[in-house]
Amino acid sequence: MNTNEVMDIYDKYFLNTYGRQPIVIDHAHGIKVYDIEGNEYLDFFAGIAVNNVGQTNHKIVSAIQNQAEKLIHCSNIYYNVPAGELAEKLANISDFNKVFFSNSGAEANEAAIKLARKYTGKGEIITALNSFHGRTMLTITATGQDKFSKPFKPVPPGFIYVPFNDIKAMEDAIGDDTCAIMLEIVQGEGGVNVINKEYIKAVEKLCRDNNILLIIDEVQTGIGRCGSLFAYQQYGIKPDIMSLAKGLGGGFPIGATLATDKVSEGFEPGDHGSTFGGNPLACAAANAVIEVIEEEDLIENSKKMGQYAKDKLNSLKEQYEFIVDVRGLGLLIGIEQWWRYC
Ligand SMILES: *Cc1c(COP(=O)(O)O)cnc(C)c1O
Repeated sequence: MNTNEVMDIYDKYFLNTYGRQPIVIDHAHGIKVYDIEGNEYLDFFAGIAVNNVGQTNHKIVSAIQNQAEKLIHCSNIYYNVPAGELAEKLANISDFNKVFFSNSGAEANEAAIKLARKYTGKGEIITALNSFHGRTMLTITATGQDKFSKPFKPVPPGFIYVPFNDIKAMEDAIGDDTCAIMLEIVQGEGGVNVINKEYIKAVEKLCRDNNILLIIDEVQTGIGRCGSLFAYQQYGIKPDIMSLAKGLGGGFPIGATLATDKVSEGFEPGDHGSTFGGNPLACAAANAVIEVIEEEDLIENSKKMGQYAKDKLNSLKEQYEFIVDVRGLGLLIGIEQWWRYC
């Protein structure tokens, strides 16, 4: 098949949900991606912050191959070794103690919200304008951008939105039924807006003073993307719940919701579940990702290359009027262009 033939099939059989580039990806290695016509590309998008350890990394590939030959899936009625190993690893490298595995970022946030409500017995979640938390009915409502939820009303109640990096607005939004504040450290889909340090520290204090949980959505910022394993670690805060997905499986779908020992007491058997969540294949891939990040010193690389890219982009900004701003943290970098050139 050539590119046009594949595109015709998509037009004919796919629900119309994506605006795609006219490129049919065939194979990839490291940062390089090749289409079916043989063209080579550098993938700065990284599968939307998924391929943090590069494409077809041999360690990830062989972890998946070996596990697939042994056991691809078993239900959560039983135990499996890769999931156990991954849970222990995640607890060791973060400030959290317990984990729930799912298959995507939206699901990781769903679990975070359910846990927060069950633990506190309260309903209202405060999120930021221009945030992005997923595409399920609950997470489009958590997302502070009207365009994602408006066509799908009625959406579930229980969310209020405040401007990002505005502590006064956050203070004013807190009420008797506030259960949690849910934020990204860098708003990815919302335009690469980096959280400010005094702000997130003050939000953490507000949470402690008012018995509100702090949920950090690290679906995009986590797994080394921002120059630390998790972006919150650069801010001297200790959230109560963190959601992960995107980069965690090195391209294999997996989501995770992490919580402190205390907050994890909110859940008891029967409260939440997933058929595929924590399956051995996904967990074997994620275990390999964490090992590769350590062995190849990718955190240091993310810091270094992120700074290099930002410096170079900033010097382009001096030369080109259409670049309004260069923002980001580590290797999550955005260029804002002047609207006239969009
Ligand atoms: C991508 C993203 C999600 C949703 O993840 P899915 O795997 O697409 O469900 C949630 N939160 C943030 C911050 C994201 O970037």
